[in-house]
Amino acid sequence: MTEPQRAHRVVVVGGGMTGLVAARRLALAGQDVTVVEQRGRLGGQVHTVRMGSRWVDVGAEAVHLGAPAARQLVTELGLVDSVLGSRAGQSWLWTGRGLRALPAGVTPSGPTRLRPVLTSGVMSARGLGRAGLEPLVARVRPGLADDEDVSVGEFVSSRFGAEVTERFIDPLLGSLHAGDVHRLSLRACAPALVDAATHRRSLVRRRQAAAPQPGCAPTLPMFGTWSGGLHTLTEALLAGLPVTVRLGCRVQRLTAAPTGYALELADAGGAVAELRADAVVLAVPASAASPLVAPHSPRAGGILDDAEVAKVATVVLGFNRSATKALRAFGGTGVLLPSTSGMLLKAATHLSRKWPQFADDDSCLVRLSAGRSGDDRLAALTDDELARQLAAEFRTVTGLDAPAEVLHVQRWPDGLPQLGVGHQARLHTLREELARALPGVVVAGSAYEGLGLASCITSGEAAAAAVSAGLTRTTTTKEVRA
Ligand SMILES: Cc1cc2nc3c(=O)[nH]c(=O)nc-3n(C[C@H](O)[C@H](O)[C@H](O)COP(=O)(O)OP(=O)(O)OC[C@H]3O[C@@H](n4cnc5c(N)ncnc54)[C@H](O)[C@@H]3O)c2cc1C
Repeated sequence: MTEPQRAHRVVVVGGGMTGLVAARRLALAGQDVTVVEQRGRLGGQVHTVRMGSRWVDVGAEAVHLGAPAARQLVTELGLVDSVLGSRAGQSWLWTGRGLRALPAGVTPSGPTRLRPVLTSGVMSARGLGRAGLEPLVARVRPGLADDEDVSVGEFVSSRFGAEVTERFIDPLLGSLHAGDVHRLSLRACAPALVDAATHRRSLVRRRQAAAPQPGCAPTLPMFGTWSGGLHTLTEALLAGLPVTVRLGCRVQRLTAAPTGYALELADAGGAVAELRADAVVLAVPASAASPLVAPHSPRAGGILDDAEVAKVATVVLGFNRSATKALRAFGGTGVLLPSTSGMLLKAATHLSRKWPQFADDDSCLVRLSAGRSGDDRLAALTDDELARQLAAEFRTVTGLDAPAEVLHVQRWPDGLPQLGVGHQARLHTLREELARALPGVVVAGSAYEGLGLASCITSGEAAAAAVSAGLTRTTTTKEVRA
């Protein structure tokens, strides 16, 4: 008879979406899992706040259920029936000449149809002429080599001309990533374009020929949340599982122990404790992983140290009933601003129009977002000043001059990772270095696989699989030696 396998001790550092998914998978695989989180709550950049009778997300707002990993997880957790999809509505673009409706078929990675762009009033006649050449340009420009990467901005400009990048990609993809589209990696930030780039396929032709979006599963919308906010998802991840959670503890040192690793934990009062682990998942921002890894591999530490982030913030405003009418007349679900606007505001979401759970409220909720890479203005403002400035800019953009109550100001100092050109090659080197210097320690999360929650779910699952495979190898080797 074979002995049942001993559970290995795995410490997951970081209790955001990535860490929680990794912890869930490892616990389900029978490992002895501890999650260590420096904050007093789980969820990381998923943070739902009670505002009166409503639950409002002040970090991530929706999960992309079009991604198979997200869809499967939500199904496994029994959360399908309660998913709320965002309501269809017009998005607006701020241009130097005021607001223009975002033309149908324009996505963060470029236009999928040219006709709506022609009539949108966003482009100049010259820009339109150049954009129309895309099918021809695709055939004559050299394709992207397998080991090559370029910025999203460079690729889209080479296909459609610089104006499409400036007027669509910058406010859409740039706002989403809080980044400079001329530095963000095509492979890491717009993987859907890579096939067209390498095989010289026209983006417009390919998309015209494509079947209509399949949706996800018949019952799931493409983007979703729950009436209790996104923390419904993060809270469900460990429910009923034998996982130890240590909140309010920062992991400040990682050292090799006779078997596995020792992690030094410090709480807010400065008390220090030690945890032992056979394997470790570092599901933390690159800046937090770097000091833990650098003593063992200066090269890996250096790669992590060089990783850039954009510090961002959100402000939630509540407009009273009288303003509600005007906001309804304004109509759209949101406004996107290009980096050239000079404003701090990069996007505004009309929550009451976008999400069904807020539709019947007496007041209207609007969420304002600010912060871009290379723009330090946020840091110089107090929370009051930040809220005042964003509210004033929102007034300028929409013309809505009604009193609003500031319901919440949220800063995200860890920010949004900026996955620059060459990101995947650096990630490959980082993982090789870690495997050599710290076997059994893996990094996971938005800094590596991309900042959408769906990518974090994939990343957490992959980290759990890598740790499990490493532990199985170690056990088998020991058994053979014994
Ligand atoms: C304002 C905003 C809006 C967003 N909107 C969306 C959206 O609508 N849809 C979407 O898909 N994505 C969105 N995102 C991105 C998404 O929320 C993040 O990419 C994702 O939540 C990151 O998850 P993570 O677990 O990798 O990292 P995090 O959520 O950052 O979690 C890492 C955790 O590690 C902890 N930690 C750090 N150092 C230590 C240490 N030394 N010891 C212990 N704990 C430590 C941190 O406290 C944190 O809780 C948004 C992000 C922001 C900021």
